[in-house]
Amino acid sequence: MISIVVPVFCEGSNIIRFYERLNEVTDTLSSHAWEYIFVNDGSTDNSYEELQNLAGADKKVKVLNFSRNFGKEIALSAGVEAASGSAVITIDADLQHPPELIPAMIEKWGKGVDIVVAIRKKTEKQPLMRKIGSRVFYWLMGKISDVDLVSQATDFRLIDRKIANIFKVITERSRMYRGIIDWIGFKKEYIEFNADARMEGKPVYSYRKLINLALNSMTSFSLFPLRIAGYFGIFITLISGMLLLIMLPTHFIFKSQYFSSLSIVVVSNTFLIGIVLISLGLIALYIGNIHNEVINRPLYIIKDRLNFD
Ligand code: UDP
Ligand code: MG
Repeated sequence: MISIVVPVFCEGSNIIRFYERLNEVTDTLSSHAWEYIFVNDGSTDNSYEELQNLAGADKKVKVLNFSRNFGKEIALSAGVEAASGSAVITIDADLQHPPELIPAMIEKWGKGVDIVVAIRKKTEKQPLMRKIGSRVFYWLMGKISDVDLVSQATDFRLIDRKIANIFKVITERSRMYRGIIDWIGFKKEYIEFNADARMEGKPVYSYRKLINLALNSMTSFSLFPLRIAGYFGIFITLISGMLLLIMLPTHFIFKSQYFSSLSIVVVSNTFLIGIVLISLGLIALYIGNIHNEVINRPLYIIKDRLNFD
């Protein structure tokens, strides 16, 4: 059996079309049994009603209904955990990930590839800000993390059962699905596809992320001052650093008395204070991570389970 995991957040207008297009593909692969696991991530529209109808009409459709919106990464985790197939395919509900790619993925899997990742070649009508955002994100991640994330790689991927089993025992709280999968390793191959513009509705994700960021800093309010200190430190370091770049050569190289020795000492000190403040800000980030791990909440709370016996 092969499991298809679909995170759903306010996709009421896409679900039926997605389901039909997916069926067209899986019908051609009838040598495999299929299960479709839709994870309703606290949609506020009619998504859950649509899913209930599908589940009522088709036994291979299974639905997990979250009690509220937990985010795509957690929805994916819940789906992969609930999947029982010997391969698990994660795919978006908005048809930006063409189901027609699935046969090629399964073919690679049949040849012994453990992870098949779909890579987006171009996205029509993707706003410039999002393009820049994702470029910057991957550049940054490449710099700071020790697994290399391929730019434009998506969550549209097939993983073998053994990867899914490993994934299940990873307990970190703040998670990125593809990051964890990349970290797990094993034999990985890539498939390219052209992303279409999203069918209906608007992409909610990036704006949600921004709002989340704001909310996060509010809930972890005790860390907020430290973080502010960090930003303040960056500001002070930049300003005093530039001043030093002018002052030091003027004083020591051109031997001008325009800047007094005292002023140079003061500005150097300010520069160092800036660096101390930046370090405090960094510590706030670490503490934030520790906080996340320590609170040890359940990752998600499932309200209903359909067709799970
Ligand atoms: N999604 C989700 N929870 C969220 C946001 C999105 O389950 O909080 C789902 C959404 O329904 C879709 C997929 O994740 O199936 C990708 O979302 P979106 O199209 O908004 O993101 P993008 O295509 O821009 O990555
Ligand atoms: Mg999308």
